[in-house]
Amino acid sequence: MEDKIHKTEFNREFRVCPHCGYKDGFHTMLKEDEQGTLWLFICPSCHQIFDIGKRI
Ligand SMILES: [Zn+2]
Repeated sequence: MEDKIHKTEFNREFRVCPHCGYKDGFHTMLKEDEQGTLWLFICPSCHQIFDIGKRI
């Protein structure tokens, strides 16, 4: 099953989940695509995955 990745705008801080409102930060994961490695964030509460436009 391919998880849906939600594109999210990063504005100074990314701490509160835009999906469920959980406010204590995120787990992280890395995912490679054609352009390199995406830095993704997983909400510990609702488990949605967010792409805030950061790469490593
Ligand atoms: Zn959440």
